[in-house]
Amino acid sequence: MRESDVRYIVLHCSATRCNTDYTEEMLLRDHLARKFKGIGYHFYIRKDGRRVQGRKLLEVGAHAVPYNRCSIGVCYEGGLDENGRPCNTMTEKQRAELTDLLTILHKLFPKARIVGHRDLPGTVPKACPCLDTRKVFGWIEGE
Ligand SMILES: [Zn+2]
Repeated sequence: MRESDVRYIVLHCSATRCNTDYTEEMLLRDHLARKFKGIGYHFYIRKDGRRVQGRKLLEVGAHAVPYNRCSIGVCYEGGLDENGRPCNTMTEKQRAELTDLLTILHKLFPKARIVGHRDLPGTVPKACPCLDTRKVFGWIEGE
């Protein structure tokens, strides 16, 4: 991708239970099983707030068909409660790290909209990222 191609910064959750760990090794294994060439997201944020880089910034990701060629994918670990139901399970450390990361991405790509996966136009109904992206991070884009 070129910088001008980036129209969306897309937030995902891993859709895993908040009381279990879903490591970057497990994520890589699962994405390779889906024939991706590596982790499909550009960034993966663990429950402890640690940031894992999956793809290089302008590399095309594998996270939001048909938007992969015009978006950056960011995923946080979790999104399901202990019973497997969609839930905003973001930890304080994840929120802080995502705020930092999305702020940086917004500066790099000022024209790109920060959206949740489910908010992408034409996307089949889904829970991902299990939170209201506009409410939680919309302020980063300003008015
Ligand atoms: Zn998603």
